Amino acid sequence: MKIENLKKVNLGHYPTPLEKMENLSKELGKGELFIKRDDTTGPAFGGNKTRKLEYLFQEAIETGCTAVLTFGGTQTNHGRATVGAAIKLGLKPILILTGADPGYLSGNLTLDALMGADIYFVPEEKDEEAVADEVIRKYEAEGDKVYSVPVGGSNCLGAAGYIISVKEILEQMKERDLTINHVVCTVGSMGTYAGLLIGAKYFNAPFDVIAVPVKPGEKNAEVLEYANEVCVYFDLGITIAEEDIKIAYGPASAPYAGEEYNKPDPITRDAIMMLAKSEAILLDPTYTGKTFRGFVELIQAGDWIKSNENAMFIHTGGVMALWTKEHLDDMQEQLRMNCKTTKV
Ligand SMILES: *Cc1c(COP(=O)(O)O)cnc(C)c1O
Repeated sequence: MKIENLKKVNLGHYPTPLEKMENLSKELGKGELFIKRDDTTGPAFGGNKTRKLEYLFQEAIETGCTAVLTFGGTQTNHGRATVGAAIKLGLKPILILTGADPGYLSGNLTLDALMGADIYFVPEEKDEEAVADEVIRKYEAEGDKVYSVPVGGSNCLGAAGYIISVKEILEQMKERDLTINHVVCTVGSMGTYAGLLIGAKYFNAPFDVIAVPVKPGEKNAEVLEYANEVCVYFDLGITIAEEDIKIAYGPASAPYAGEEYNKPDPITRDAIMMLAKSEAILLDPTYTGKTFRGFVELIQAGDWIKSNENAMFIHTGGVMALWTKEHLDDMQEQLRMNCKTTKV
């Protein structure tokens, strides 16, 4: 079956808005800059995971599952989006989270708890797969059938979400007669970036797709392998070549990924404040903040994104992570410097 005809459940609102960033375009003084608001997909604040989950939940329902289990860190956006999707579709949401119970439910955990998810906190030293097997056996003994979604929803089937999103982008460009030369997104568990890369090639898009990693380490080889696995899985008749993969790591002295995953540095927070102050669009500290810093620096440098070219940033969501105690604590000083507070 052609990938365009692949069945999915409906969870998100599409097309997501494609907005021109007028103020930011002026501020940077290069080409026209756009943003694709995949932070607005829904449900439960959605984000990029919704596009993948539509295909995965289709399979869950087709196979008669009554509960859905997935994995992530304690603040996983993917987990929260999966809980939201499960609730909408009447399935039981189960989260296997790596990390100790923080003892205080903030950010995504607040939302998971509000939606009544079953949450298992697994200490770092324990094997979460083994824990998941045990948990699944427990639910199955009680009569449930459990569908297991991999980390980030990034298996072959999940990648369909972002492959198909390219069709949506191309339709919006056509409707509004827009030229977009580059699309920039985050690369984490890879479903988003690989999907966009494949979609761009499969649908003959006029743009290339550039990704910014959110944790230190080389990522090109992994993306290449996964993307080609997906091409074979869907029998797309295309292959992704090494030179199709454009991952921007940033300067060695201050890489875009920062020191570690989920740890934004002051440069990342500056980038978050830059977009907040120019467009009133809010980014998250773990993924889109780091990616947006890369986006701005790529435009300023003019190598990959030339000064007369137009670029689009994909906002993949996750803003609720800003309201976790650790990020708020980290940010206090910089926040004060970014605004004017007056004691009256
Ligand atoms: C998961 C996530 C990403 C990364 O997407 P992958 O498909 O896992 O590479 C980017 N941004 C946000 C906000 C996310 O939650």
